[in-house]
Amino acid sequence: MIVDPEKCTHQPVYFGAVNINIEQRTIGTVDVWRCGACKKRFCEEKQLGIESIADIVGMPKIGPDEKWAVLVSKLQKGKDKWKLVKLKETDKIKFETIDEKIIELNVKNFQIEDDHHWSFLIDDHIGKAVEI
Ligand SMILES: [Zn+2]
Repeated sequence: MIVDPEKCTHQPVYFGAVNINIEQRTIGTVDVWRCGACKKRFCEEKQLGIESIADIVGMPKIGPDEKWAVLVSKLQKGKDKWKLVKLKETDKIKFETIDEKIIELNVKNFQIEDDHHWSFLIDDHIGKAVEI
């Protein structure tokens, strides 16, 4: 029986990872945890060389109508090129650029629609590497 995720107390176990690659070198990882009771997934962004600070108790929350995704900027480089985000099916999300400008991006069908930014869903790439 699958527990209702909104009522579950969550017991996440490690599920897998998505590697973020630039020119075939892994520059970061998104670790994916899954609750054994309700199957809800939790994600944690790891930039290469930076120690993880999240723990199970501090697992980031995601709404029932949201999906985990990676936002990719075509304008920025290295660790500033990507960010773990939560997307709704139709949404506008705010993104802070490296020069501290807040820009708004349109989301349609769980994907960012913009000339300079794109995104992919974590669920589709667990256990794989994604070239950004
Ligand atoms: Zn749960």
